[in-house]
Formats: sequence, C-alpha cells, structure tokens
Amino acid sequence: MEHLTALRGFRDIYGEEIERFTLIERAARAYFQLLGYKEIEIPVLEKTELFKRSIGDTTDIVEKEMFTFTDRSGDSVTLRPEATAGIVRAYLQASLYAKERASRLFTVGPMFRHERPQKGRFRQFYQMDVEVFGIADPMADAELIWMVFLILGRLGVTNYTVEINSVGCRGCRDEFRKALVRFLESKKEGLCTDCAGRLDRNPLRIFDCKNAACFDAITDAPVIFDYLCDECRKHFDDCLGRLGAFHVPYVVNKRLVRGLDYYTRTVFEFTSPDLGAQKAFAAGGRYDNLVEEMGGPSIPGTGLAIGMERLALLVRELPPGQTPLYFLARVGEEAEAWLIPLLDAFVSSGMPLAYAQPARSLKSQLKYANSLGADYALILADEEVSKGIVLMRDMKDGTQKELPLDPAGLPRLVKG
Ligand SMILES: [Zn+2]
Ligand SMILES: [Zn+2]
Repeated sequence: MEHLTALRGFRDIYGEEIERFTLIERAARAYFQLLGYKEIEIPVLEKTELFKRSIGDTTDIVEKEMFTFTDRSGDSVTLRPEATAGIVRAYLQASLYAKERASRLFTVGPMFRHERPQKGRFRQFYQMDVEVFGIADPMADAELIWMVFLILGRLGVTNYTVEINSVGCRGCRDEFRKALVRFLESKKEGLCTDCAGRLDRNPLRIFDCKNAACFDAITDAPVIFDYLCDECRKHFDDCLGRLGAFHVPYVVNKRLVRGLDYYTRTVFEFTSPDLGAQKAFAAGGRYDNLVEEMGGPSIPGTGLAIGMERLALLVRELPPGQTPLYFLARVGEEAEAWLIPLLDAFVSSGMPLAYAQPARSLKSQLKYANSLGADYALILADEEVSKGIVLMRDMKDGTQKELPLDPAGLPRLVKG
C-alpha cells in the first residue's frame, strides 16, 4: 500500500530547520521577557466573522486566501490567517483593558492561508506575533521595531532593511482616497479585473496588487504620505526620531501599505534581498481603530509578526552544541545492568548520555558513537565492572583514562 503524504502547502518541519526555529524563538523570547511581553495562546479556529470584520472584506486574505468551512453545527469557521484579530478578540473577551493600562502580548504558532505554495511560503506557516494595547505614543511603534532589530542582532542576521511609512488616520485617508480614485479613474483600462472592481470599495488595495499592469499604473499615483494631517505627520516624525535614538537604521518607503484594512499611521516591513521576490520576513503597524471596530472601547494598538520560515532562511550559522556528548558502550550482562543507573545519573545532572540499543560489539558501538558526533565514550565491559572502573575515551584523539564506576559522582568526574 502506498503511504500518504501531507496536504499541498502543508509540511513537516524537522532536523536543522526546526533547530533554526528553536534558535529564533529563544532569541525572541529573551527580548519579549526583557520588555515585559506576556505570552498568550489563542485558538487556531475562530468564527469567520472575526476575520471579515478585522482584516476587511475586500482584502486578498479574506476574499481569496482563508481556510473557511462550515463545521458540523452549520457555523462558518476559519483557520486563523494571522494572529492580531484573535488577540484583539481575546483582549476584549478578558476585559484586559479594564485591568491594565497597557498590555503587551505575544504568541507563537501556526497560521493558515490558501496561497499558491512557493519558496518560503506555505499554507500552514509559523509566526511570532506581538501586540501592544493602550499606548498611542509612537514610542510603542519604535520599541517594537527596535526589539526586532535586537533579535536579528542576536541571530547574526545583518542583510536587511527596515522600511517604514505612515498610512495616516481616517481623516487624512479620506482626502487621499479621493485623490487616488480620481487618478485611477484615468487608468482604469489598464487595471486587472480585481483592482478595477475594487476601485470604489477599497482603492488602497491596488498598492498590494502583484499584477504587472497595475504596478505600472500606479507609478505616478499619489501616495498617502503626501496627504498626512498634521497630527499623523508629527506621529511619524516622532517615531523616526525614536528610531534614531535607538540607533535603528531605516528607509522611508512612501509606497509601503500593508494588505490589511486595520492599519493606521505607522506601518513597517523588515525586508532582505536574500529572500527573492517575497522579501519581507517581519512586518506590522499601528491599528488605532481596530479595538473599537471590534466592539471594544477606543484603545490604540500596534503590533508585528515575524515569519519563522523566512527568518529561518536568513539565519546562517547554527551555534555549535554547547554540552559535549557522552556515549555509553557496554559489553556483557553485568555491564548492561549499569545502563539505567548511569543514564539516570547523567540526565539528572543535565548531561546527555547516548547509547546503542541493542549493544552489539564494542567496535559497532564506537562506530555508532562516532556517527552521533559523540565527544567521549564511556566503555564498560564485565572486566571493568569487576574492577569497579569505567574507561573514558576521548573520541578525537583516542586517549583513555580510568574513572571509578560511581554513577552519582561520574557526571561531575567526566567534566573534569
Ligand atoms: Zn491623520
Ligand atoms: Zn491589480
């Protein structure tokens, strides 16, 4: 019988890649903790309505990419395509706004989008997501960007750019929208059917369109940046000032808009030329109206997501294993009886002790130890047992020394 395979765009992550994931997560968690972020787990499955209301009905995500289905109760449910909507829902459901002035939350986990699978892009993909509620000041935006800058520094990732822009507030966006629609009306012929259809409903989406004709059509289009009201302009300048104080280099990209409706003011992306066409590996922005639009009080928010798959591609070197690997080779029945006491003693002391099962010849066990990359082999035959010793062999130079066969003391002794 043929074995089954995973669904298209879904995959298993193991070996070196999962080590990279762990490395990234560990670096990120260190800074999350230093900066006061609290972990939250939210469901992967939510009411479809949640994403329609937050991300926006006319976005690519909601129109084309969500895993939406009717469950056995007849309800429309959706696998989360991103984490912000669910965290806002949780924030409101737990009334966190009534309990703390500012909330800093993070979550790590899989997201789901029905996109065409391509390099570094999958239908189930992993994100680290960070959200800040209750801080209107641009300091919160700058701090988020700085935090990613620190995480990347710790991971040794250097070939990237921070692109930043402002998409304004409701007020300045209305002015801009009028100007944009006026401009696009004149180009309507050249637009793809999606964009032509969206012209009235959501003209801003055209900036996200991957269609070459649309890209050409907007080369001279007005940009929101030139329509910012005084307050939005000040917010943006303040944010840039803070980034300067944090020594985070950035590039203002006036064409940067994110593919979700809820963003206001600051939006940003971390991009790397090493990733090809899909060059963003972390992105986010401010969403000062979202909490209110989701039925809550008027509370500002800002956040970001880091794409694990794409960042993993940028992490070049895995750090070498820190603790040396020990291997126990045992020959004979009496020696075999020491396996469990020694394994227990090593692992309880926080040290690894590998072994072969079954224990064949000494030669084959040492060969296996080599294949595992063991630094030292502890060799125990019935002869050593009767003398109350164990041999420790340095696998690199083959030198050996005798140590007393005392499980409780051995882990300390082998460390030398
Ligand atoms: Zn404004
Ligand atoms: Zn288009």
